[in-house]
Amino acid sequence: MATVSPQADVQRTGVAQHLPPAEITKNQFQAAADLLGLNGAMRQRLCIPFRETSVQVPVLMDDGRVEVYTGHRVQHNGARGPTKGGIRYHPTVDLEEVRGLATLMTWKTALLDVPFGGGKGGVCVDPRALSKNELERLTRKFTERIAIVLGPYRDIPAPDMGTDAQVMAWMLDEYSQKRGYSPAIVTGKPVALGGSLGREEATGRGVMITMREAARDLGLPWEGATAAIQGFGNVGSHLAACLASEGVKVVAVTDADGGVVAEGGLDAAALSAHVAEARTVGGFSGGDTLGAKEFWGVPCDFMVPAALGGVITKEDNVNQLQCRMVVEAANAPTTPIADKILEERGIPVLPDFLANAGGVVVSYFEWTQNLQQLRWELDHVRQQLERKLTDAYRDVAAVARDRKVPLRTAAYMIALKRVADAEEMRGH
Ligand code: NAD
Repeated sequence: MATVSPQADVQRTGVAQHLPPAEITKNQFQAAADLLGLNGAMRQRLCIPFRETSVQVPVLMDDGRVEVYTGHRVQHNGARGPTKGGIRYHPTVDLEEVRGLATLMTWKTALLDVPFGGGKGGVCVDPRALSKNELERLTRKFTERIAIVLGPYRDIPAPDMGTDAQVMAWMLDEYSQKRGYSPAIVTGKPVALGGSLGREEATGRGVMITMREAARDLGLPWEGATAAIQGFGNVGSHLAACLASEGVKVVAVTDADGGVVAEGGLDAAALSAHVAEARTVGGFSGGDTLGAKEFWGVPCDFMVPAALGGVITKEDNVNQLQCRMVVEAANAPTTPIADKILEERGIPVLPDFLANAGGVVVSYFEWTQNLQQLRWELDHVRQQLERKLTDAYRDVAAVARDRKVPLRTAAYMIALKRVADAEEMRGH
């Protein structure tokens, strides 16, 4: 199995190390809990995960060897509904990372007011080093091992970094073989198997919608504005396409294996076509080569991390940024110290659990369509997504203004209050 050395990681991300998402979310939680005056017992109820499951995942490789991977599923809080959250395949996955991301899902589902709690899962593996058959066997074994804690009314996975609609199809099939056909067991699955129209693009589209709303609200430029995106997977590529249709220029993109820059803007469709062939943005003829470290210094209106967590740090790059706003398309990309520095520098941050919530909103639409056995038109999905996200942005902006706090703290205050109220009402 391919592993990533710290040195390789510096070259790939342009940053020295990742602060675990759990540390990042814990820090942000305390600030909002203080402002809400939550008592100690409630803080514990909201912080300690409801259930954590770690499993061994033995996989028969194509050459006859057996590799044993480790997987996790964390159900952080289910006071407001079944837990919901993606499955990540990446070499940095560990229990702590999954716990932090599950926590973030609790706040995200509460902020968007969808009837779910927060969960997350992952396997410590480099999926690009596996063949398709190996990936399928890994997914089936992982699903079998965690199936005991899943269920359409208990815990519903979705894609995240390193997983996609195909992985969800295998999960659906593995689960359904034992328990009967259960399309609502996962979201983000192929449309032919009950996936929702508009789910694949939903996170990227949602980032664009919240960015546009923030730009209007904060008086930032929009049509003709510039954006730089780290990561060109599901989120980054759909975001680039949505920004192009709004007349926003994407001037720089990096991924795990390369980077490209063009002052006049990159052609998003041509870049996607290049990535479909080359599997990296590197080598794209419509721009110049860009290093991972140089990426952070590219002048732009919107700097959008859309890959890993913990990538904007004091040590590495926060003072290098030359943007008017940071848009957190990735989960937990900004360390708390870097967040503070951005505040001092007067650069607003559109927080992850608002900016990238489009995926879970359309996952909710998908789940309800599965349970009701009906299908929404794409236009209806897009309209409802836009309404949910603009409402959420406006709620957050109103609290931020009223309480004179950053957008992130305001978003936490809304989310924490909703979960704390649900915990209180459900009793002990
Ligand atoms: P993906 O696997 O489709 O794409 C990830 C992208 O990040 C790829 O382009 C990859 O090359 C790049 N990348 C990986 N390591 C990198 C590195 N070291 N330096 C630079 N680029 C690197 O993943 P995705 O689904 O697009 O998710 C991206 C982020 O968005 C993650 O933080 C994920 O948690 C978050 N997110 C995703 C969704 C979703 O619906 N997919 C929803 C909410 C949040």
